[in-house]
Amino acid sequence: MKTKQVIGAAYTNVNCPICGGEGRHFHSHDGYEIDRCGDCGFIYTKEIPSTDWLKQYYSNQYSANVTDGAYNAKKTWGLKHWLLANFLSFLTPSRGGQTKKLLEIGCSQGVLLRQFKAKKDWHAVGVDYGGAAVNFACQQGLDAHVSDVESMHFEPATFDAVVALHVMEHVQNLDVFITEIHRVLKQGGYFFAVMPSMSHYKPKLAGASWKYWGPPGHLWYFTNHSLTLFLESNGFEVKHCSSLYHRAHVRILARKK
Ligand SMILES: [Zn+2]
Repeated sequence: MKTKQVIGAAYTNVNCPICGGEGRHFHSHDGYEIDRCGDCGFIYTKEIPSTDWLKQYYSNQYSANVTDGAYNAKKTWGLKHWLLANFLSFLTPSRGGQTKKLLEIGCSQGVLLRQFKAKKDWHAVGVDYGGAAVNFACQQGLDAHVSDVESMHFEPATFDAVVALHVMEHVQNLDVFITEIHRVLKQGGYFFAVMPSMSHYKPKLAGASWKYWGPPGHLWYFTNHSLTLFLESNGFEVKHCSSLYHRAHVRILARKK
């Protein structure tokens, strides 16, 4: 489904939502205007749809794939998810037999949740807007919910780690999102995220034809610098931020101060 015009913008980014700098027109996509900040380089959609509108959009977007049984069967295990689960376990030593807690935002059908479920010292919770994907995850015995993270009303300092794979480029309000992640993480807890990168050579080469352009699906376009700045100004210490991958992604590992 493609949106040909902005429907009922909930708010407009007059200036850069990360540093407050002045933006200049950078790109147009399906009726959406995209600006680039002259100070920090962050690229952002100006008119942002409402949360309810985006929930409906994502519910429609991802349902077709995940109700297909063959698709699900292929997507229940992944090497990247196995590696990530072991990496976060290594970073988060057990504390006297206490169960460690992971939150995955955008868990889809639960490929990463499944990796943590196999670990005796973790409990993993997932949220996602895609009802069919979450239903599939629940049928596998995973703790998944059709929700955004704010609506779950988790207690403060609940989680040892929060993961968001290909999520931040979609969120309706970045400030609300990162404030909630900071609130639900324990002090010293880790936030790990992957998203499209404007620091990668691929978008620089592709220009306007880059495949990741796409409000209302992709609202935000980070560079290594703007992503680091965003997390550091929201109470995190950035441990690693890199776009040196074969795909045009940036990965960031940050720790709650
Ligand atoms: Zn900026």
